[in-house]
Amino acid sequence: MVPEQQDAGASTPTSSPGGERTSVVIVGAGPAGLTLANLLHAEGVPCVLLEAESRELIEALPRAGFLEEWAVRALERRGLAGPGLLGAEAQGDCEFRMDGTRHVFRYGELSGNRHIVYPQQFLVTDLVRAFADEAGGDVRFGAGDVEVHGIRTDRPSVSYTDAETGQQRTVACDFVAGCDGARGSSRAAIPEGGVEIFRHDLGVGWLALLAEAPPSAERVVFGLHPQGFAAHMARGPQVTRYYLECPPGDSPDNWPHERVWSELRTRLGARDAPPLNEGEVVERRVLDMHNYVVEPMTYGRLHLAGDAAHLVAPVAAKGMNLALNDALLLADAFRAYYREGDESGLEGYSDACLRRVWQYQDFNRWVSEIVHGPSSGDPFKAGTAAARLRRMTRSAKAGRAVAGLYIGSDADH
Ligand SMILES: Cc1cc2nc3c(=O)[nH]c(=O)nc-3n(C[C@H](O)[C@H](O)[C@H](O)COP(=O)(O)OP(=O)(O)OC[C@H]3O[C@@H](n4cnc5c(N)ncnc54)[C@H](O)[C@@H]3O)c2cc1C
Repeated sequence: MVPEQQDAGASTPTSSPGGERTSVVIVGAGPAGLTLANLLHAEGVPCVLLEAESRELIEALPRAGFLEEWAVRALERRGLAGPGLLGAEAQGDCEFRMDGTRHVFRYGELSGNRHIVYPQQFLVTDLVRAFADEAGGDVRFGAGDVEVHGIRTDRPSVSYTDAETGQQRTVACDFVAGCDGARGSSRAAIPEGGVEIFRHDLGVGWLALLAEAPPSAERVVFGLHPQGFAAHMARGPQVTRYYLECPPGDSPDNWPHERVWSELRTRLGARDAPPLNEGEVVERRVLDMHNYVVEPMTYGRLHLAGDAAHLVAPVAAKGMNLALNDALLLADAFRAYYREGDESGLEGYSDACLRRVWQYQDFNRWVSEIVHGPSSGDPFKAGTAAARLRRMTRSAKAGRAVAGLYIGSDADH
């Protein structure tokens, strides 16, 4: 499967003080890396999980909040859904507000599936506990200078600086799983031209806000407004995520408390809509909204998973779900390899993931054109956005198709 020559461009550690060996080194303890680590450990496949940050930081970092039902059921089947996740609130409606009118989209009824509202940091906390505390898995937090070596050989390795001793260590392995997100280092081990990266820029920024305030609606609300898009999403009984479209590269300092709430009130306003519950804004950051896909997701003995392989701007809440899908497929492929010597899963891993990736990218872009249409300054884009919204909320047939794409399914797996 893997050519046995050394990569011209890839560095190879010459000495490895404290050198050791495992089957799979997983770089990055996000949803993808942690899911994979738990599943490999459960299968008896030795693995080492390297994470650049501290446990405290990753367990507190708020990002995603909506899991698709198929993903939760897949975690549950593999014993990775804790009581918090299984007891979390399910949502099957969202609401679009435009020109003062509310349009409710009942995608749960239309598709038979719903979103589970579970903040990403809760899932990460559950998965760290399951791997490190309950299963006794090997996770090394605070790993610095992580570098992947020799991925075109049958003896790859990963070097890093140990957080406690400051010493450089190297772990030799059969495979590396690059689960280190959009800014990780594992992808850098692939030489120029080894994979292609396809990018798509949405041309807008989103100011991502977390407010210490109860949700103001029982569902996700998308405000389509000439001044810019806005969104409301529950993150728990006392915490709400809001988004405000802004120029790309805008500074969060341009958005003081008063301006944030005034824009949210305007852009999310509609007849008969209850007022927003306001509260302190505890997180403010600007996201440059772009997408990318790395093809293929495998290079030699490096398999990328999650945001390391594809970024989906958080328009339709897809990124964490894709990360979980990759981890499930990669775990299945490793199980077949280590149990039966069957390499077909690893060989087909990239294609299997990319089917769902491109489907979600396409849907994300379609929704993005709706939510950014009215603020585009282009009456043609605003008109087509309004037409799509009418079609999906008034025609059951069109609505069912959109609902299926919004919530995903096992069939995409
Ligand atoms: C504001 C916001 C809202 C979102 N909302 C949603 C949503 O509602 N639903 C949804 O599905 N998705 C959502 N997403 C996307 C989702 O958060 C990501 O897709 C998801 O985190 C990807 O998981 P991952 O495991 O691939 O990567 P990450 O979660 O990024 O984890 C990567 C890990 O690798 C570590 N790391 C990085 N570099 C290194 C290195 N060199 N060495 C070792 N470790 C390293 C990082 O510290 C991190 O812990 C949102 C994203 C944002 C920013």
